[in-house]
Amino acid sequence: MCDEPLPALDARRTPVPHSCEDCARLNAFLESPTERVGRFPLNEKRRFHLEAELRFSQADALWTTQRDASPYTLVVSKNDTSYRKRHGEWTKCVVHAELVLREAFDQATLRELLAEQFDDSMQMRMVRRALPPPVQGMAPESKRGPPTHLAQAHSKQSRHFD
Ligand SMILES: [Zn+2]
Repeated sequence: MCDEPLPALDARRTPVPHSCEDCARLNAFLESPTERVGRFPLNEKRRFHLEAELRFSQADALWTTQRDASPYTLVVSKNDTSYRKRHGEWTKCVVHAELVLREAFDQATLRELLAEQFDDSMQMRMVRRALPPPVQGMAPESKRGPPTHLAQAHSKQSRHFD
């Protein structure tokens, strides 16, 4: 029901959808199984374009601008954001499944503990609601089966209470 997501086996990450020359270089880095930090010395407009693409595609990466030389360098570091998000959702799924199971188990235990009392009282309420007022001697005592069993339970009970 809940399959635990696995972390990326290597540094490969989903590329951005744009296909200009700068994005092609960014994607070569994102899809590289070994590179984890990419450096893109570009003018402001082109850096902003790459940043916008990374943001838009929710890439598994953080970035910063290094201002020690001209042009400035966009430094992109890969991370595991989408894996962590999927793993968080998986944890919620597991906790929910455990709660549902525990609830089902508790109800089964409760039913067992109350056993016949529980069934009888539930049945009596249903019978009283479903059947017209009892007519003495009409319920066949010899037959067995769910509907006549209900009727028997009712007629037996009604003898005590009527
Ligand atoms: Zn582009």
